[in-house]
Amino acid sequence: MYEKTKNLLKLAKERNTAVIAFICMDYIMARSVVYAAEKTNTPAIIMLYPEHVSIQHTAGLSNFATMVKELANEVIVPIGLHADHDYSYEAVVKTMDAGFDSIMIDGSMYSLEKNISITKEVVSKAHSMDICVEGEVGHVGLAGESDNSKEDLYTRPEVAKQFCEATKVDALAVSIGNAHGEYKSIPKLDIKRLEEIHEAIDTPLVLHGGSGIPDDQLLIAFSRGINKFNLGTEFLRRYYSAVEEYIDINKHNLDPVKIIDLPQYIQSKLQPYLEERLRTLCRF
Ligand SMILES: [Zn+2]
Repeated sequence: MYEKTKNLLKLAKERNTAVIAFICMDYIMARSVVYAAEKTNTPAIIMLYPEHVSIQHTAGLSNFATMVKELANEVIVPIGLHADHDYSYEAVVKTMDAGFDSIMIDGSMYSLEKNISITKEVVSKAHSMDICVEGEVGHVGLAGESDNSKEDLYTRPEVAKQFCEATKVDALAVSIGNAHGEYKSIPKLDIKRLEEIHEAIDTPLVLHGGSGIPDDQLLIAFSRGINKFNLGTEFLRRYYSAVEEYIDINKHNLDPVKIIDLPQYIQSKLQPYLEERLRTLCRF
């Protein structure tokens, strides 16, 4: 059942757990998430990375939103929709107009003043349309650059408080030892810092760069204010492996129509992985 992401964040906060937002670039990824959520009776969010539309053209913006709503309504469990990192007011307005009820404006690469002013402008527009806004303060960088161990990029509790009071965001992405992409070594979350941020603000917190953080650390983080958890890299890697396997299995079959069975094969490989993630990490 389609549900606004705002309500899923509220539910996750009440249950002191996190809802997982899975990066999906196409129908089969989204379908795998919806049916894994149904099987485990656990809410989930389908998340679009807007550059997958503007650069890789894996889907269209509004047809992605329509597709998720249609898929979500095939099941009983609540499924949300969210757009990940947009970097400008113009881009985010386009995303909101395309039917997303939850978006992210990421001004974390700018000065705090500029980040606050861009985010505030987006929140004002979004709230007039009953759309939920995620902001970011501190900066979640790249795991490949070992940004997860650069403390100067981490979110400072007093800055998080200032940012949330000034912008009125509905969710806040934090940098606490996490980063995007493949980690070079096992990351270590700064739980003490997370606790301080959680104490300073009431806003649901979001953890980006979820692939490769050990589960024990994740479960602690989810009990200390992380209410949304973004998972992309690991999911995409599983997709790639499933395509490789399918090609390997069928390499002696020269019938080109064989391709029509690819999506279902991929779902059969992705869904168990997603079910395991939802069962292990979520406490709804
Ligand atoms: Zn991110």
